[in-house]
Amino acid sequence: MRRREFLKLLLAAGITGAGGLGLEQAARAAGRPEPFPELPQKQSGQKPEALINTKNGQVMPAAGIIMRHSACLGCYSCCGNRVKIDASTGEILQVFGNPYNPLNSEPHLPYEAPLTEAYLAFSNYQGKGNTARATLCARGLATLQAHQDPMRLLVPLKRAGKRGEGKWQPITWEEAVNETIEGGKLFSEIGENQEIEGLRHVRDFNTLIDPNRPELGPKVNQLVFFGGRDDGRMVFASRFMRAFGSINYFTHGST
Ligand code: SF4
Repeated sequence: MRRREFLKLLLAAGITGAGGLGLEQAARAAGRPEPFPELPQKQSGQKPEALINTKNGQVMPAAGIIMRHSACLGCYSCCGNRVKIDASTGEILQVFGNPYNPLNSEPHLPYEAPLTEAYLAFSNYQGKGNTARATLCARGLATLQAHQDPMRLLVPLKRAGKRGEGKWQPITWEEAVNETIEGGKLFSEIGENQEIEGLRHVRDFNTLIDPNRPELGPKVNQLVFFGGRDDGRMVFASRFMRAFGSINYFTHGST
């Protein structure tokens, strides 16, 4: 069953099930705007993010659900997305397209359109769901699985075996930053006693990397950044590399 049909059904069930006199008629009789039914306590699947009256466009966001408009970093296209969050746990429940973003929807909503328009874009109110419904590609939808992947890296990992052996140990961010900057015998605990230079020692503008090859420039150029496509984070890396002083900053296009 499609989402909008489900929402309509929920609405219809609430209206017709209210003790003989439907809520709709009761509201009219009382001269009040049409109320929404309570969300059902028992249902299969997820709680909908809102109930929408497809007759008059009233929107009632569900309590306990937060909707956030954001950006997908599933690939370098940086489409918009719309994330459904459980307010009590902060857990992401589902990811949708963002109706404000032309990469998700055409026509898309103007930036200044109220959020109620974003809810309506997923409904059949005035046929909006047929034209303004926003979508993601399959990979964008699967970012939810990537987010919940038990193999997802959440802390720095340090090599805990020979290169290529696939052994790693988690370390804190403080340890990672400190070891990267200060260097030292970083792998002595696994029997490797070579001294590894940290960024503090590499940031040397006075010593040539190789006096016989002055074109390589000073030692500071030994810090090399190999990036990929610009997914919105490269600006931070390029700023850091410029501040550090190395010319060896490469992105996808640099190849
Ligand atoms: S929705 Fe798909 S195409 Fe768009 S950024 Fe995400 S993964 Fe890339």
